[in-house]
Amino acid sequence: VPVKEPPKIQRLDESVVNRIAAGEVIQRPVSAVKELIENSLDAGSTSINVVVKDGGLKLIQVSDDGHGIRFEDLPILCERHTTSKLSKFEDLQSIQSMGFRGEALASMTYVGHVTVTTITKGQLHGYRVSYRDGVMEHEPKACAAVKGTQIMIENLFYNMTARRKTLQNSADDYPKIVDLLSRFAIHHINVSFSCRKHGAARADVHSVATASRLDAIRSVYGVSVARNLMTIEASDDDPSSSVFKMDGFISNSNYIAKKITMVLFINGRLVDCSSLKRAIEIVYAATLPKASKPFIYMSVMLPPAHVDVNVHPTKREVSLLNQEIIIEKIQSAVESKLRNSNESRTFQEQV
Ligand code: ADP
Ligand code: MG
Repeated sequence: VPVKEPPKIQRLDESVVNRIAAGEVIQRPVSAVKELIENSLDAGSTSINVVVKDGGLKLIQVSDDGHGIRFEDLPILCERHTTSKLSKFEDLQSIQSMGFRGEALASMTYVGHVTVTTITKGQLHGYRVSYRDGVMEHEPKACAAVKGTQIMIENLFYNMTARRKTLQNSADDYPKIVDLLSRFAIHHINVSFSCRKHGAARADVHSVATASRLDAIRSVYGVSVARNLMTIEASDDDPSSSVFKMDGFISNSNYIAKKITMVLFINGRLVDCSSLKRAIEIVYAATLPKASKPFIYMSVMLPPAHVDVNVHPTKREVSLLNQEIIIEKIQSAVESKLRNSNESRTFQEQV
């Protein structure tokens, strides 16, 4: 067998490196929408409006009424690792904002065409500027603007043929975007959200700021969900086991659904926790005679130092200190609430 020559090792072009990294942060259109909404929330917005064309592949546009972006910051806005939210690693321990990597906007410019329009308080006009591969394409142009920031991404994944193809073939991301907005809308009840397809008169998510979470759930998920919910709470403040506080809503025994809806925020971050989800599903399956899947909204607060938000670039997954104990406590709170409501229902049916 002839010995093969070792292939030569080369340094990748920076633009190639950046595009590969960008494809990890922005996996699909809905990931871009999530990053943009989190930026709008971080900017203190009270109104966030999303417009989507072709499942986000042609256009994603997020407009907010937040604090805007300084003119002086526009040149580095879309460079990788530029952020107004973090300055040293230790800050991660106490981070309140949802962003901190300074990667989202940069990533979008490596896999799409990004245009930013923004105005800050006290200015007579705003600025508009487009970005490609991390840099401004031209000097910012003065333009009319009301309040806040509008970010537009066009032709997402135009330079990633394989990604574009698989996304075009699979069911488009619009339902996922609607689902995402719905989740944000029932957590951030002091913010109004809307989401529509480009050119559509009707919005598919439309929430108005309210003081009542149940009202928000009713307006987003419908009456049939809202009328079958019960409040739930659990907490622990024993440093030797776990420290947390949870409150939310869970569906009662009258609620019927084929699929679980689990909306989970941990320290204000929309996350997935499959072990908690499974633990709750088990309780429902064991307690309710009918095999209905639950609707769950939970907001869990923990000491910031107990949550590692830095596990993954998409920040979708977090790891918690004492996760097993917390899950057990939440599980037993759900179980007793459900058992009580189920017993009182059975009792009512009998009399
Ligand atoms: P990160 O959110 O991790 O800081 P991003 O790339 O998402 O990184 O955003 C970079 C910076 O751009 C933010 O730190 C923020 O200062 C600014 N920014 C982005 N979006 C908005 C917005 N909608 N309103 C105001 N500032 C914004
Ligand atoms: Mg961000």
